[in-house]
Amino acid sequence: MAQTTPNHTQTVSGWAALDSSGKAVPYTFKRRENGVNDVTIEIMYCGICHTDLHFAKNDWGITMYPVVPGHEITGIITKVGSNVNKFKLGDRVGVGCLAASCLECDFCKSSRENYCDQIQLTYNGIFWDGSITYGGYSKFIVADHRYVVRIPENLPMDATAPLLCAGITVFSPFKDSNLVDTPGKKVGVVGLGGLGHLAVKFGKAFGHHVTVISTSPSKEKEARERFGVDDFIVSTNAQKLQVCSHIIRSSEKNSRFYRGYSVSQAFSGANTRITQSKRDIGSGKRSVRGSMTGSTSETQEMLDVCGKHNITCDIELVKTDNINEAWDRLARNDVRYRFVIDIAGNSSSL
Ligand SMILES: [Zn+2]
Ligand SMILES: [Zn+2]
Repeated sequence: MAQTTPNHTQTVSGWAALDSSGKAVPYTFKRRENGVNDVTIEIMYCGICHTDLHFAKNDWGITMYPVVPGHEITGIITKVGSNVNKFKLGDRVGVGCLAASCLECDFCKSSRENYCDQIQLTYNGIFWDGSITYGGYSKFIVADHRYVVRIPENLPMDATAPLLCAGITVFSPFKDSNLVDTPGKKVGVVGLGGLGHLAVKFGKAFGHHVTVISTSPSKEKEARERFGVDDFIVSTNAQKLQVCSHIIRSSEKNSRFYRGYSVSQAFSGANTRITQSKRDIGSGKRSVRGSMTGSTSETQEMLDVCGKHNITCDIELVKTDNINEAWDRLARNDVRYRFVIDIAGNSSSL
């Protein structure tokens, strides 16, 4: 049953997985009233992240059913709380992975709330009022304004949605390694999927020499012709790997949550695993860094950079009737390069 938190008075239609069979079905539930710090967002689009599949199928054993997935949300503001100054009715906005944090720790106070140890996610999290959070596979969402970002006017709402998770996950390592708009570095991107193709776009837009490192030789043509990558390495070729000075590992499959990696000067081994021997890292003053999505301010910075360079995700738009089909295809990696659900569009099931 839907939660019964007293201030959850708004009825909303959405799609949920009810058990570990992992099928999305129409689901009606309650959201909280729009509080003083909240905005209500009529959802237009929601990207499908591999994480959604993991939660739907309870792959990590932490799913609280029913789960309404979705943390790549774009939409229009329809209500604004009295404490909210930075947004107004009609604004084009986005919500990513974060729903709440403690607001008081060093991470929260320095705009790095994504590393707060009390972080709560946009779905399958516990909000401050004790309710379970429900994500963007739904018609509207109530979000605290401190976790909402503005979408630049020149970016389309559908192809921007995946930037809220996939985009920030690979942007963060670019930023951490001072690779944003500092051209001329050699950047390697491991994997050319939903995250990887965005890392390639960032790398090219920032003026770097971009190499895709992949296990699939068949992706070379696409990497070069569609995305203009400068080089392509099959990941078993250890000798060639050493030419990259910065490597972004973009694969999210099987990784819990949403990690991007920036590995500076780190590769001398015969494979692309992140684990390096102490000697490998010590000689040459190499470093390995990890990151987990990005903060709200960092996500805003990424969107502004995307607006400036006209970077969006390559997407396949799906109707709400076809969520399960998209999930099945995503499980087979059959997508170029990210599915986005047309939440506001017509469907037969609601
Ligand atoms: Zn995600
Ligand atoms: Zn905190």
